[in-house]
Amino acid sequence: MSLSEIRSRIQAACEEFGRAPEEVKLIAVSKVQPDERVRAVLEEGQRVFGENRVQEAAGKWPGFREEFDGIELHIIGPLQTNKVRQAMELAQAIHSVDRPKLAHAIARIAEETGQCPDLFIQVNTGEEPQKAGILPAEADAFIAECRDLNLPVIGLMCIPPVEEEAALHFALLAKIAARNGLKGLSMGMSGDFEKAISFGATHVRVGSAIFGARDYG
Ligand SMILES: *Cc1c(COP(=O)(O)O)cnc(C)c1O
Repeated sequence: MSLSEIRSRIQAACEEFGRAPEEVKLIAVSKVQPDERVRAVLEEGQRVFGENRVQEAAGKWPGFREEFDGIELHIIGPLQTNKVRQAMELAQAIHSVDRPKLAHAIARIAEETGQCPDLFIQVNTGEEPQKAGILPAEADAFIAECRDLNLPVIGLMCIPPVEEEAALHFALLAKIAARNGLKGLSMGMSGDFEKAISFGATHVRVGSAIFGARDYG
């Protein structure tokens, strides 16, 4: 598939589900992809990208930023507290705020620098032990805690369990966001971004459908 195909599928889903296209941001997830594929997508005009490792993002994006204006970087993977400062310097958004210790580390640096990326709280909607994210039952309290820290929380993020119906998880995330007055919903990947749009996604994170399969070899 190509970037333009993904864009038209997003457009079509917005029309079908009565969403305004400007409410849905496409994050092109470039993790592990070779530079030439990323450059091709930049040359097609895409400027919003997602990376799940700070180290990888730090190696790749400062160079692309010298070549291309207006790049917006989103950190979407688990974040260690010792990488927070680097993540905050690099990224315009962090989607993986998932525990109090991390929230406090972000708040300390935000206070010191006077700057903070947009934040999403990751919710472990499937309550999977191996997956990051705050449990649904603890989400309201954690959102309140982040707000007490003056963090710019703009929404919630989830990664549904692979073997379950994603719709249930998208609906749950939307419900938790709504009752907490949050508008941002980071949900939907290559296989299910249209469904996520139908449930109110404001940020879809699409990797392999744009760039091709990731080669971890
Ligand atoms: C890799 C990744 C994606 C993109 O997955 P695809 O299936 O390639 O679209 C989206 N979100 C997160 C958090 C990821 O780590």
